[in-house]
This record gives sequence, C-alpha cells and structure tokens, in this order.
Amino acid sequence: MLDLQLKEFFSRDTKGGKPFIIAGPCSAETEEQVHETVRQLAKQNVDAIRAGIWKPRTRPNSFEGIGTIGLKWLKDACKEVNLPAAVEVANAKHVYECLKFGIDILWIGARTTVNPFAVQEIADALEGADVPIMVKNPINPDLELWIGAIERLHKAGLRRIAAIHRGFSSYEKTKYRNRPYWEIPIELKRRIPNLPIICDPSHICGTRELIASVCQKAMDLNFDGLIIESHRDPSHAWSDAAQQVTPDRLSEIINNLILRRVSTDNPEFNTQLEDLRNKIDRVDDELLDILSQRMEIVKDIANCKKENNITILQPGRWDEIVKNSLVKGRKRNLSDDMITTLFQAVHKESIRKQTEIMNEE
Ligand code: PEP
Ligand code: MN
Repeated sequence: MLDLQLKEFFSRDTKGGKPFIIAGPCSAETEEQVHETVRQLAKQNVDAIRAGIWKPRTRPNSFEGIGTIGLKWLKDACKEVNLPAAVEVANAKHVYECLKFGIDILWIGARTTVNPFAVQEIADALEGADVPIMVKNPINPDLELWIGAIERLHKAGLRRIAAIHRGFSSYEKTKYRNRPYWEIPIELKRRIPNLPIICDPSHICGTRELIASVCQKAMDLNFDGLIIESHRDPSHAWSDAAQQVTPDRLSEIINNLILRRVSTDNPEFNTQLEDLRNKIDRVDDELLDILSQRMEIVKDIANCKKENNITILQPGRWDEIVKNSLVKGRKRNLSDDMITTLFQAVHKESIRKQTEIMNEE
C-alpha cells in the first residue's frame, strides 16, 4: 500500500458521503466564458473547477487549447468564488506554468499516462512541490501502466494523489466514447485500497445523455468523486461539445444521485447479509468442485486425443458448446455476456491443459 495523505482531499467517507465534485469546461476558450462558467458553477455544489489549457487533440487543426493566458483567467475566476482550480499537465513546462500561476490541483491526461518518459518528466518537475495530482487511466486498458504512473509521482514525493477513471479507447464502436471496463478501476482499488478514485463520466460517455447513469454507477461502486465537463453553452463549446452539460443540468445530475453507504450497524441487515453470504460461499465451493471435475474429464480427453493423434481444437465442437450454453443459459436467466465470458475462460484453460498433456514426453 502506498503511504498517501488522502482524507483531507478527494476522499469520500464510507457512510454515503457526498462525492468530491470537480466541474468545468473541457477547455478554457475566452476570459468571459471562463468567468461566466465558473460563476454559474460556484452556485452549484462543486468542490473544484476544471479547465483544459493545453489540449491533446487526436487530429491536427483542431483547437489545441488557449495556452498560458487561460491559467490567469481560470485562477482569477476561481479566486473570485473561492474554489480550487484544476488543470491538465502533459510536460514539465505545463507544470512550471501551473505552479507559477498557483493552480491548486493538476491532472495527467490519458494520452500522457501511456508514456512513462512523459510521466517521469512531470514527476521530476514536481519534485518537492506539495500539490494534489490526479492520474487519468491510460487510453489502453493497462492497469500496470496506470499504477506505474502513480508510483512515479509517489517516488517524486507527492502524497495527495488520486486516480481518474475516464474509460478506454477501442477500435469497435460502442455506445460509449471510451469503454468503461469497470473491472479495471475495481482492481486498482483492490491493489491500492487507500487511493481515491474519481470517475470522469464525460470522457467515458462522449454524449451528455448518458452522463447521469454513469455517475450513478460510479457512486454505486463507491468512487470518491466525479469530474464532469460543464460549459455555459455546451453545444457551442470549442472542444467536446457533445458531452458537456450546462451548470444547471450538472446540478440536477448531482442532486439526483442516490448515495449509498458501504456498511451499516443495523444488526438485522447484517445477519441477513451474513446468511446470504454463507449461501454464496457454499455455492462457490460447489462451483469450484464442478470446475475441478470438468478439468479431470479434460485430462482424459487429452490422453484419448493424444493416443489417436487428433487435434486439440475441433471448431465445430467449440461452436456447438457456445451455442448450446447460450440457449441453456437464457432458460436459467443468465446473460449472454456472462455465459460467453465464462465459457471462454473454461475453454481457454481446457486448451492450455490439453496442450500441456499432448506435448508431455
Ligand atoms: C480532458 O479531460 O479534457 C481530456 C483531454 O481528457 P482525457 O485525457 O481523458 O482524454
Ligand atoms: Mn474534454
């Protein structure tokens, strides 16, 4: 576990406390837009303001950020309403500029987290600076790379560190701009339990209609905070127009969140939960016994195929297993997704085991 000083920043308590809310435009565009958006957001229940100053864009000739002048607009606007300002940094120069203008919170963007050289450059530039920093997940679903970036900052002496989950890019088109793969931030929480995790529904969703449901999901998974893009006039924003929400809509989203506790002292609930968990443990044991029985049969099959010089994979048979189990699963109210994932895992292990046996001397 990393020694982090968290409770004073970012973290949400386990009793269904309010999440740490960071909101603000994708990009600072004009002095007036920054001041007006910040003024409107300050009337809502937000804890910090975000604005992109240098924008990493996929294609050239898009708006690449207003640059250093935006730091002054943002800092002045935040001072006026007494809220901390958060800005993305992608290199050492950005770090120096942000520290010079007194930016209160920094974050490393998804396109930077993928690059250990860039993260190390930022970590070196931050050596000795006690500034809170948030690390977005890398664009590819690689937990080790995410953890590596966090460790580089920690090694540079930073202690107020949080992670931001902003989803992962993929070639396939899905309803999300960046697929959430919730299991990755869940595993991050298991690996570094005292690291606050903030969800960025804006970059996960890509469209404003989906944002409320992703915020709720993050709350149900006990994320510590939310970073949401908000603009006074979203459809005319110079970047990420489709996913930004007005400050009024932001407030509606936050006020409609259902905040649940992690645990309770209610003895009735606790006994009931324990009973149900005992039942689950018994079923899980049975599941493990059955999987082990299945693997014993796989060994017999492997020996049988070996003696008769038959290939491990017979595509027709595998296709039949997938199709039949989907039909049988549906009858038992098990989702196609679960059946597919489960049987792929079982099949992968079966092939691994058969390969081992077939190639034994
Ligand atoms: C952003 O927050 O505006 C941004 C560029 O996000 P990401 O690094 O997640 O793409
Ligand atoms: Mn954006």
